[in-house]
Amino acid sequence: MEKVLDGKALAENLNEKLKKEIANSFSLTGFKPKLVAILVGDNPASKVYINIKRKTCEKIGIEFESLELSGEITKLQLFNEIDKLNNDQKINGIILQIPLPKKLQKFSSDFVEHISPIKDVDGLHPYNQGKLFNYDESFAPATPKGIILLLEHYNVDLRGKEVVIINRSNLVGKPLIFMFLKRNSTVTICHTSTINIENHIRRADILVVAVGKPKFITKEKIKKGVVIVDVGTNRVEGKLCGDVDFNDVYDKCSKITPSPGGVGPLTVSFLCHNTYHVFKNQMKLS
Ligand code: NAP
Repeated sequence: MEKVLDGKALAENLNEKLKKEIANSFSLTGFKPKLVAILVGDNPASKVYINIKRKTCEKIGIEFESLELSGEITKLQLFNEIDKLNNDQKINGIILQIPLPKKLQKFSSDFVEHISPIKDVDGLHPYNQGKLFNYDESFAPATPKGIILLLEHYNVDLRGKEVVIINRSNLVGKPLIFMFLKRNSTVTICHTSTINIENHIRRADILVVAVGKPKFITKEKIKKGVVIVDVGTNRVEGKLCGDVDFNDVYDKCSKITPSPGGVGPLTVSFLCHNTYHVFKNQMKLS
Protein backbone atom coordinates (compact mmCIF):
# COMPACT_ATOMS: atom_id res chain seq x y z
CA MET A 1 0.00 0.00 0.00
CA GLU A 2 1.44 3.33 -1.06
CA LYS A 3 1.96 5.82 1.73
CA VAL A 4 2.71 8.85 -0.41
CA LEU A 5 -0.28 9.95 -2.49
CA ASP A 6 1.34 10.87 -5.78
CA GLY A 7 -0.79 13.65 -7.27
CA LYS A 8 1.73 14.40 -9.98
CA ALA A 9 1.59 10.90 -11.48
CA LEU A 10 -2.20 10.79 -11.21
CA ALA A 11 -2.50 14.21 -12.89
CA GLU A 12 -0.20 13.14 -15.73
CA ASN A 13 -2.39 10.12 -16.31
CA LEU A 14 -5.58 12.18 -16.33
CA ASN A 15 -4.01 14.78 -18.60
CA GLU A 16 -2.98 12.11 -21.10
CA LYS A 17 -6.56 10.76 -21.24
CA LEU A 18 -8.00 14.24 -21.61
CA LYS A 19 -5.54 15.06 -24.39
CA LYS A 20 -6.85 12.08 -26.38
CA GLU A 21 -10.49 13.07 -25.77
CA ILE A 22 -9.79 16.62 -26.91
CA ALA A 23 -8.01 15.38 -30.04
CA ASN A 24 -11.03 13.17 -30.83
CA SER A 25 -13.51 15.97 -30.34
CA PHE A 26 -11.35 18.24 -32.51
CA SER A 27 -11.57 15.72 -35.33
CA LEU A 28 -15.37 15.72 -34.93
CA THR A 29 -16.00 19.44 -34.52
CA GLY A 30 -12.92 21.29 -35.81
CA PHE A 31 -12.87 23.26 -32.54
CA LYS A 32 -10.68 23.17 -29.45
CA PRO A 33 -11.73 24.21 -25.95
CA LYS A 34 -10.54 27.66 -24.93
CA LEU A 35 -9.78 29.05 -21.48
CA VAL A 36 -9.16 32.72 -20.70
CA ALA A 37 -7.51 33.89 -17.48
CA ILE A 38 -8.06 37.52 -16.53
CA LEU A 39 -5.06 39.09 -14.84
CA VAL A 40 -5.53 42.58 -13.42
CA GLY A 41 -2.29 44.35 -12.48
CA ASP A 42 1.08 42.67 -12.36
CA ASN A 43 1.16 40.46 -9.27
CA PRO A 44 4.28 38.29 -9.87
CA ALA A 45 2.83 35.21 -8.11
CA SER A 46 -0.31 35.42 -10.28
CA LYS A 47 1.88 35.49 -13.38
CA VAL A 48 3.65 32.31 -12.23
CA TYR A 49 0.29 30.55 -11.62
CA ILE A 50 -1.03 31.69 -15.01
CA ASN A 51 2.04 30.30 -16.75
CA ILE A 52 1.62 26.93 -15.02
CA LYS A 53 -2.01 26.83 -16.24
CA ARG A 54 -0.98 27.91 -19.74
CA LYS A 55 1.67 25.18 -20.02
CA THR A 56 -0.70 22.38 -18.95
CA CYS A 57 -3.56 23.63 -21.15
CA GLU A 58 -1.36 23.86 -24.22
CA LYS A 59 0.10 20.40 -23.56
CA ILE A 60 -3.41 18.94 -23.41
CA GLY A 61 -4.75 20.82 -26.45
CA ILE A 62 -6.77 23.56 -24.74
CA GLU A 63 -6.24 27.05 -26.16
CA PHE A 64 -5.17 29.41 -23.40
CA GLU A 65 -5.20 33.18 -23.36
CA SER A 66 -4.27 35.53 -20.55
CA LEU A 67 -6.12 38.81 -20.72
CA GLU A 68 -3.69 41.18 -19.02
CA LEU A 69 -5.39 44.35 -17.82
CA SER A 70 -3.95 47.44 -16.18
CA GLY A 71 -4.13 47.61 -12.39
CA GLU A 72 -5.72 51.05 -12.92
CA ILE A 73 -8.82 49.60 -14.63
CA THR A 74 -12.17 50.71 -13.17
CA LYS A 75 -14.93 48.44 -11.87
CA LEU A 76 -17.10 49.27 -14.90
CA GLN A 77 -14.29 48.58 -17.38
CA LEU A 78 -13.64 45.18 -15.81
CA PHE A 79 -17.37 44.35 -15.98
CA ASN A 80 -17.24 45.26 -19.70
CA GLU A 81 -14.22 43.01 -20.28
CA ILE A 82 -16.03 40.13 -18.59
CA ASP A 83 -19.13 40.80 -20.74
CA LYS A 84 -17.01 40.46 -23.89
CA LEU A 85 -15.66 37.09 -22.75
CA ASN A 86 -19.15 35.91 -21.71
CA ASN A 87 -20.48 36.75 -25.17
CA ASP A 88 -17.61 35.23 -27.15
CA GLN A 89 -18.83 31.80 -28.37
CA LYS A 90 -15.25 30.61 -28.89
CA ILE A 91 -14.42 30.96 -25.19
CA ASN A 92 -15.51 28.10 -22.95
CA GLY A 93 -13.92 28.89 -19.60
CA ILE A 94 -13.16 32.14 -17.78
CA ILE A 95 -11.09 32.53 -14.62
CA LEU A 96 -10.35 35.68 -12.69
CA GLN A 97 -6.90 35.47 -11.14
CA ILE A 98 -6.86 36.64 -7.53
CA PRO A 99 -5.76 38.66 -5.62
CA LEU A 100 -7.02 41.71 -7.47
CA PRO A 101 -5.30 45.07 -6.93
CA LYS A 102 -6.28 46.58 -3.55
CA LYS A 103 -8.85 49.10 -4.80
CA LEU A 104 -10.83 46.37 -6.62
CA GLN A 105 -10.61 43.69 -3.95
CA LYS A 106 -13.88 44.65 -2.24
CA PHE A 107 -15.69 43.95 -5.53
CA SER A 108 -14.13 40.50 -6.06
CA SER A 109 -17.38 38.63 -5.53
CA ASP A 110 -19.24 41.05 -7.86
CA PHE A 111 -16.77 40.24 -10.64
CA VAL A 112 -17.07 36.51 -10.04
CA GLU A 113 -20.88 36.82 -10.15
CA HIS A 114 -20.54 38.68 -13.45
CA ILE A 115 -18.84 35.70 -15.10
CA SER A 116 -21.42 33.55 -16.86
CA PRO A 117 -22.08 30.54 -14.59
CA ILE A 118 -21.77 28.23 -17.59
CA LYS A 119 -18.19 29.46 -18.17
CA ASP A 120 -17.24 29.59 -14.47
CA VAL A 121 -14.61 26.83 -14.50
CA ASP A 122 -13.30 27.90 -11.07
CA GLY A 123 -16.72 26.99 -9.64
CA LEU A 124 -16.98 30.22 -7.64
CA HIS A 125 -20.22 31.66 -9.05
CA PRO A 126 -23.07 31.51 -6.48
CA TYR A 127 -25.13 29.44 -8.94
CA ASN A 128 -22.44 26.77 -9.07
CA GLN A 129 -21.88 27.00 -5.33
CA GLY A 130 -25.61 26.33 -4.95
CA LYS A 131 -25.35 23.27 -7.16
CA LEU A 132 -22.56 21.94 -4.97
CA PHE A 133 -24.79 22.52 -1.93
CA ASN A 134 -27.05 19.93 -3.57
CA TYR A 135 -24.07 17.61 -4.17
CA ASP A 136 -23.82 18.38 -7.90
CA GLU A 137 -20.06 18.55 -8.44
CA SER A 138 -20.09 19.31 -12.19
CA PHE A 139 -18.81 22.85 -11.57
CA ALA A 140 -16.98 22.27 -8.28
CA PRO A 141 -13.66 24.10 -7.83
CA ALA A 142 -10.60 22.27 -9.10
CA THR A 143 -8.58 21.94 -5.88
CA PRO A 144 -11.31 20.14 -3.89
CA LYS A 145 -12.01 17.91 -6.91
CA GLY A 146 -8.33 16.98 -6.99
CA ILE A 147 -8.27 16.24 -3.26
CA ILE A 148 -11.29 13.92 -3.43
CA LEU A 149 -9.98 12.12 -6.50
CA LEU A 150 -6.58 11.61 -4.89
CA LEU A 151 -8.15 10.09 -1.75
CA GLU A 152 -10.52 7.88 -3.75
CA HIS A 153 -7.80 6.78 -6.15
CA TYR A 154 -5.71 5.56 -3.21
CA ASN A 155 -8.77 3.83 -1.69
CA VAL A 156 -9.03 6.00 1.39
CA ASP A 157 -12.36 5.11 2.96
CA LEU A 158 -14.25 8.35 3.65
CA ARG A 159 -17.51 6.92 5.02
CA GLY A 160 -18.10 7.87 8.66
CA LYS A 161 -14.58 9.25 9.03
CA GLU A 162 -13.67 12.36 11.03
CA VAL A 163 -12.46 14.83 8.41
CA VAL A 164 -10.85 17.99 9.79
CA ILE A 165 -10.20 20.80 7.30
CA ILE A 166 -8.08 23.77 8.35
CA ASN A 167 -9.31 26.37 5.85
CA ARG A 168 -12.65 28.05 5.20
CA SER A 169 -11.99 29.70 1.83
CA ASN A 170 -14.43 29.50 -1.10
CA LEU A 171 -11.78 27.72 -3.17
CA VAL A 172 -10.79 25.01 -0.72
CA GLY A 173 -12.52 24.52 2.65
CA LYS A 174 -16.15 25.41 1.92
CA PRO A 175 -16.59 23.26 -1.21
CA LEU A 176 -14.89 20.36 0.56
CA ILE A 177 -17.60 20.41 3.26
CA PHE A 178 -20.21 19.29 0.73
CA MET A 179 -17.92 16.89 -1.11
CA PHE A 180 -17.01 15.04 2.08
CA LEU A 181 -20.62 15.11 3.33
CA LYS A 182 -21.72 13.56 0.04
CA ARG A 183 -19.33 10.72 0.84
CA ASN A 184 -20.74 10.34 4.37
CA SER A 185 -17.79 11.75 6.26
CA THR A 186 -18.19 13.80 9.44
CA VAL A 187 -16.71 17.22 8.74
CA THR A 188 -15.11 19.85 10.98
CA ILE A 189 -13.83 23.16 9.64
CA CYS A 190 -11.11 25.04 11.57
CA HIS A 191 -9.85 28.60 11.08
CA THR A 192 -8.04 31.35 12.95
CA SER A 193 -10.86 31.78 15.50
CA THR A 194 -11.17 28.08 16.33
CA ILE A 195 -10.70 27.53 20.06
CA ASN A 196 -8.45 24.61 21.00
CA ILE A 197 -7.63 23.76 17.40
CA GLU A 198 -5.18 21.10 18.68
CA ASN A 199 -8.12 19.02 19.98
CA HIS A 200 -9.78 19.05 16.56
CA ILE A 201 -6.55 18.21 14.72
CA ARG A 202 -5.85 15.30 17.07
CA ARG A 203 -9.32 13.81 16.38
CA ALA A 204 -8.85 13.74 12.60
CA ASP A 205 -8.86 10.49 10.63
CA ILE A 206 -8.34 12.65 7.53
CA LEU A 207 -6.66 16.03 7.93
CA VAL A 208 -6.76 18.62 5.14
CA VAL A 209 -4.41 21.53 5.73
CA ALA A 210 -4.47 24.74 3.65
CA VAL A 211 -3.28 27.56 5.87
CA GLY A 212 -0.22 28.82 4.01
CA LYS A 213 2.24 28.32 6.91
CA PRO A 214 5.24 26.00 6.62
CA LYS A 215 5.55 23.30 9.33
CA PHE A 216 2.09 24.17 10.71
CA ILE A 217 1.51 20.44 11.28
CA THR A 218 4.10 18.41 13.17
CA LYS A 219 3.95 14.88 14.64
CA GLU A 220 2.97 16.04 18.16
CA LYS A 221 -0.30 17.44 16.78
CA ILE A 222 -1.66 14.41 14.90
CA LYS A 223 -3.30 11.08 15.70
CA LYS A 224 -1.37 7.95 14.71
CA GLY A 225 -2.60 6.61 11.36
CA VAL A 226 -4.13 9.87 10.12
CA VAL A 227 -4.31 10.53 6.37
CA ILE A 228 -2.87 13.97 5.65
CA VAL A 229 -3.68 16.13 2.63
CA ASP A 230 -1.25 19.03 2.47
CA VAL A 231 -2.70 21.73 0.23
CA GLY A 232 -0.35 24.50 1.36
CA THR A 233 2.10 26.01 -1.09
CA ASN A 234 4.84 28.07 0.51
CA ARG A 235 8.24 29.26 -0.60
CA VAL A 236 11.04 29.00 1.97
CA GLU A 237 14.51 30.09 0.95
CA GLY A 238 13.55 29.72 -2.70
CA LYS A 239 12.17 26.18 -2.27
CA LEU A 240 8.53 25.17 -2.39
CA CYS A 241 7.01 23.38 0.60
CA GLY A 242 3.62 22.64 2.10
CA ASP A 243 2.07 23.34 5.50
CA VAL A 244 3.05 19.97 6.93
CA ASP A 245 6.50 18.97 8.19
CA PHE A 246 6.60 15.94 5.88
CA ASN A 247 9.67 14.19 7.35
CA ASP A 248 8.53 14.76 10.91
CA VAL A 249 5.01 13.29 10.49
CA TYR A 250 5.94 10.58 7.97
CA ASP A 251 6.22 7.62 10.41
CA LYS A 252 3.12 8.56 12.38
CA CYS A 253 0.62 9.11 9.54
CA SER A 254 -0.77 6.32 7.35
CA LYS A 255 -0.84 8.34 4.12
CA ILE A 256 0.31 11.76 3.08
CA THR A 257 0.34 13.98 0.00
CA PRO A 258 3.66 15.63 -0.75
CA SER A 259 3.79 19.36 -1.47
CA PRO A 260 4.84 20.08 -4.14
CA GLY A 261 3.72 17.07 -6.19
CA GLY A 262 0.41 16.32 -4.46
CA VAL A 263 -2.69 18.46 -4.80
CA GLY A 264 -1.16 21.19 -7.04
CA PRO A 265 -0.87 19.21 -10.32
CA LEU A 266 -4.40 17.85 -9.85
CA THR A 267 -5.76 21.37 -9.40
CA VAL A 268 -4.47 22.38 -12.83
CA SER A 269 -5.67 19.11 -14.33
CA PHE A 270 -9.22 19.64 -13.02
CA LEU A 271 -9.25 23.21 -14.32
CA CYS A 272 -8.64 21.69 -17.75
CA HIS A 273 -11.33 19.04 -17.15
CA ASN A 274 -13.82 21.72 -16.09
CA THR A 275 -13.04 23.66 -19.29
CA TYR A 276 -13.55 20.58 -21.44
CA HIS A 277 -16.82 19.87 -19.62
CA VAL A 278 -18.13 23.31 -20.70
CA PHE A 279 -16.86 22.76 -24.24
CA LYS A 280 -18.63 19.41 -24.48
CA ASN A 281 -21.89 20.96 -23.23
CA GLN A 282 -21.63 23.79 -25.74
CA MET A 283 -20.80 21.43 -28.61
CA LYS A 284 -23.53 19.03 -27.47
CA LEU A 285 -20.99 16.18 -27.35
CA SER A 286 -21.94 13.31 -25.09
P1 NAP B 1 -6.74 31.74 2.48
O1 NAP B 1 -8.00 32.19 1.84
O2 NAP B 1 -5.82 32.75 3.09
O3 NAP B 1 -7.12 30.66 3.57
C1 NAP B 1 -6.29 30.26 4.60
C2 NAP B 1 -7.12 29.59 5.64
O4 NAP B 1 -6.28 29.11 6.68
C3 NAP B 1 -8.15 30.53 6.27
O5 NAP B 1 -9.38 29.89 6.43
C4 NAP B 1 -7.50 30.89 7.62
O6 NAP B 1 -8.45 31.18 8.62
C5 NAP B 1 -6.77 29.58 7.93
N1 NAP B 1 -5.65 29.82 8.83
C6 NAP B 1 -4.56 30.58 8.59
N2 NAP B 1 -3.72 30.54 9.68
C7 NAP B 1 -4.33 29.75 10.59
C8 NAP B 1 -4.00 29.35 11.90
N3 NAP B 1 -2.87 29.75 12.51
N4 NAP B 1 -4.85 28.52 12.54
C9 NAP B 1 -6.00 28.11 11.96
N5 NAP B 1 -6.37 28.46 10.72
C10 NAP B 1 -5.54 29.27 10.04
O7 NAP B 1 -5.87 30.94 1.47
P2 NAP B 1 -6.26 29.89 0.31
O8 NAP B 1 -6.31 30.60 -0.97
O9 NAP B 1 -7.43 29.06 0.70
O10 NAP B 1 -4.93 29.00 0.34
C11 NAP B 1 -4.40 28.41 1.50
C12 NAP B 1 -3.09 27.69 1.17
O11 NAP B 1 -3.37 26.69 0.22
C13 NAP B 1 -2.01 28.57 0.52
O12 NAP B 1 -0.73 28.09 0.90
C14 NAP B 1 -2.22 28.37 -0.95
O13 NAP B 1 -1.05 28.60 -1.70
C15 NAP B 1 -2.59 26.91 -0.94
N6 NAP B 1 -3.41 26.51 -2.10
C16 NAP B 1 -2.89 25.54 -2.89
C17 NAP B 1 -3.61 25.07 -3.96
C18 NAP B 1 -3.05 23.96 -4.78
O14 NAP B 1 -3.56 23.71 -5.86
N7 NAP B 1 -2.04 23.26 -4.29
C19 NAP B 1 -4.86 25.62 -4.27
C20 NAP B 1 -5.38 26.61 -3.43
C21 NAP B 1 -4.64 27.03 -2.35
P3 NAP B 1 -9.38 32.49 8.56
O15 NAP B 1 -10.46 32.16 7.57
O16 NAP B 1 -9.89 32.66 9.94
O17 NAP B 1 -8.49 33.60 8.09
